[in-house]
Amino acid sequence: MAGSGTFSEIIDGDVYKYYVDGQWKKSSSGKSVPIINPTTRNTHYKVQACTQEEVNNVIDSAKKAQKLWAKTPLWKRAELLHKAAAILKENKAPIAECLVKEIAKPAKDSVTEVVRSGDLISYCAEEGVRILGEGKFLVSDSFPGNDRTKYCLTSKIPIGVVLAIPPFNYPVNLAISKIAPALIAGNSIVLKPPTQGAVAALHMVHCFHLAGFPKGLIGCVTGKGSEIGDFLTMHPGVNCISFTGGDTGISISRKAGMVPLQMELGGKDACIVLEDADLDLAAANIVKGGFSYSGQRCTAVKVVLVMEKVASSLVKKVNEKVAKLTVGPPEDDCDITPVVTESSANFIEGLVMDAKEKKATFCQEYKRKGNLIWPLLLDNVRPDMRIAWEEPFGPVLPVIRINSVEEGIHHCNASNFGLQGCVFTSDINKAIMISDAMETGTVQINSAPARGPDHFPFQGIKDSGIGSQGITNSIHMMTKVKTTVINLPAPSYTMG
Ligand code: NAP
Repeated sequence: MAGSGTFSEIIDGDVYKYYVDGQWKKSSSGKSVPIINPTTRNTHYKVQACTQEEVNNVIDSAKKAQKLWAKTPLWKRAELLHKAAAILKENKAPIAECLVKEIAKPAKDSVTEVVRSGDLISYCAEEGVRILGEGKFLVSDSFPGNDRTKYCLTSKIPIGVVLAIPPFNYPVNLAISKIAPALIAGNSIVLKPPTQGAVAALHMVHCFHLAGFPKGLIGCVTGKGSEIGDFLTMHPGVNCISFTGGDTGISISRKAGMVPLQMELGGKDACIVLEDADLDLAAANIVKGGFSYSGQRCTAVKVVLVMEKVASSLVKKVNEKVAKLTVGPPEDDCDITPVVTESSANFIEGLVMDAKEKKATFCQEYKRKGNLIWPLLLDNVRPDMRIAWEEPFGPVLPVIRINSVEEGIHHCNASNFGLQGCVFTSDINKAIMISDAMETGTVQINSAPARGPDHFPFQGIKDSGIGSQGITNSIHMMTKVKTTVINLPAPSYTMG
């Protein structure tokens, strides 16, 4: 059970505590933030509404702890990370339970998120041990006044305090994808979990506590992003921000100071289907890619661009699969579960109504009950409809019929987003050509967009993000290059 047994320390009454200097504490604000269960729409958990002073304390404590941690041998850092991974996996059931109640993630997917996160920690520990010990040795050459008299040694050093802000849809996995690389690289972490998903994140933090990390190295403050977000992201004690979420990231990047930013933002991943595609394969991937976790994934298929000649066959195949999706509560492991908040459901409904007014073809009847929206495929969507461009983050998928490959690429590249895209074709030459032309961080050939495997590079361009993630890239991003130059006296020899 969440909050009991191993986790009884992290809760007081019915309010979860925040984590500072190796201790679980109540906020002096005396206020809490409710977490609404998307299925029942009742308050299910409460977390502390931390004050600015508490944020200061967490950051100060992280700053102090990082100095010692930076001198801790890599093998020791890796050992603790492996321990945290094991504890996390041992506790997959209570953590998954929080995901089911806080963000209505289907039960099996909730367990998968926790297990995948444990694997990510272990991979990160191994990768860090291998790559962080490497440095470079350079010799000066053809620089005015220097004749091989300078020798340069470089190494990778930690960046300091990393502020990690993950989104609601993967509150454990996307916190870990920041925490593990930061720690193996010798940094400390201040985590601000999403409100929906905060309790799963607090359980995850407790697994690191139980693994025995030095006190202060990991801190976790809770509260609404709209209330403590600016104070955190503009805090002078923060040396790096790793953020995943929506447009909030764009405003953070405008306000943050001179600190490296890792921004993983929204997407409108296009799926281009050519005439020579395997339509069964495309349909299966469109349904899995578009409707898994009710479309609430950054790399969900968010628009299908299909050649007119095969469009009707593809839509028929997709509809047959949509009809088989189960709809209901996450506890029953349904494919389609309630979306995270009522305001998300209202936003999605707004996109659907706009498409209705503008005469899109509804392949299913639009149905909503509370936060639960039944899966909906919209055919004959045109560029004047909002759903053609906006990210619904829900189980609604638009299909735009195209008459040429160029038209598909043009639509994809006209988007503000540039996260991922995919193309279905049996012609590898065409696939590569389309991949080159699509302005996105990644293109998948004959498969739906996906973030994993977690060590692959993952990045968005345009409004989809800054920097590249994936285990190796994140470790590099969370270090600085330190250079030491050895200067020798000028040579006294003469040539010839
Ligand atoms: P969001 O509303 O942008 O929130 C993301 C995080 O930012 C939450 O922890 C939120 O806390 C916090 N926050 C809110 N206001 C803040 C502020 N002023 N300063 C600092 N932090 C603040 O996004 P979301 O609804 O959780 O997630 C959905 C979005 O994430 C979608 O657009 C999706 O595409 C994107 N996403 C991208 C990726 C990727 O890898 N590119 C992966 C997953 C999701 P509160 O919850 O307390 O408001």
